[in-house]
Amino acid sequence: MLEADGLKKSFGNIVATDDVSVQFGKEDGEMVFIVGPNGAGKSTLVNLLTGLLEPDEGAVTLDGQDITTMRADQRVHEGLVRSFQVVKVFEEMTVRENIRTALLIKRKKTGGLGPRAIWEGLFSLDDEHEAIERTIDDLVEQFRLDDVEEAIAEELPHGDRKLLDVAMSFALDPNYLLLDEPTSGVSAQETDYVIETIVEVSESQNVTTVTIEHDMDLVKNHADRVIALHQGSVHGEGPPTMLETDQELRRLLLGVEE
Ligand code: ADP
Ligand code: MG
Repeated sequence: MLEADGLKKSFGNIVATDDVSVQFGKEDGEMVFIVGPNGAGKSTLVNLLTGLLEPDEGAVTLDGQDITTMRADQRVHEGLVRSFQVVKVFEEMTVRENIRTALLIKRKKTGGLGPRAIWEGLFSLDDEHEAIERTIDDLVEQFRLDDVEEAIAEELPHGDRKLLDVAMSFALDPNYLLLDEPTSGVSAQETDYVIETIVEVSESQNVTTVTIEHDMDLVKNHADRVIALHQGSVHGEGPPTMLETDQELRRLLLGVEE
């Protein structure tokens, strides 16, 4: 389980996150969506969870381990991976090359099979190469990128670019995946497909996802649980039906008060 306990973060006079205590992955593979008006503190919370920011107060724990001050890249090592609002792919590489790069980064971090195993003849470089190519095949297929696997990233439709971005996050082998507005910049026709694919792959691999999303229809269709933030605090949390029954939340999300 990934837990925030009393997280507080200020920027000057602005309290972006104000005593937030929430839990993710109460069940394996849980899909949690974070909603709230602009400036509610959603991105700040994700940044605190993933190590881009350190809180002023409070703690972050991952499967019982205190990771409050652990660097972001070390958290990746521990299975906590994030994807940014803006797609971060290597624009001039193909889909396969992008995924291969992510796999090689992961291998470098974990040592992979390691030179020793290869030296001792337990595995050959050919075996390792073969294993990497098969993993790319799997990711390309799961993220429905088969048709474009040799296409250059910058030439992909926005939806496929986002799916490539998330596929690269999956190459890092997450237990928890945090996504800050994965449908931002994706055309209206593609958003459902993008979220559906991410949810499908996450479910099949039992990855707990934490997704910031503005489109309430997508949240209603895919969330196991919703956490609503407002002015840095948790306004409420519950099943997606909360988006219909909580009139105050509806007003906040429609921006009437903002
Ligand atoms: P959300 O993602 O819900 O739109 P943010 O977490 O980005 O909200 O921001 C919450 C509040 O903190 C906003 O008032 C925002 O202006 C402020 N804020 C966020 N990041 C910074 C920063 N790096 N420096 C100063 N203020 C920030
Ligand atoms: Mg944000």
